Amino acid sequence: MAFMLSWMLKCPKCSRNFTHTKIEPSIIEEARRDPFGILPKPTFALDGENYTCPGCKTESVFQRQQLFYHDDIYDVALRP
Ligand SMILES: [Zn+2]
Repeated sequence: MAFMLSWMLKCPKCSRNFTHTKIEPSIIEEARRDPFGILPKPTFALDGENYTCPGCKTESVFQRQQLFYHDDIYDVALRP
């Protein structure tokens, strides 16, 4: 695999995107076989989790639904 996908979070203070977790190639392969191409999100604590922005060093609480990935790369990865 030449590409590497990551779940990203956006800092609410400085709007910088930073990596939450790397997505394993095996998980991407599974999503490619899924008819809906759904990439399962990492689990989060119910009341959110704290992460520190590498840009402005501000710690913020994030919810699971705030995770996102780079759509354009993902589209390329899913196309046969
Ligand atoms: Zn920041």
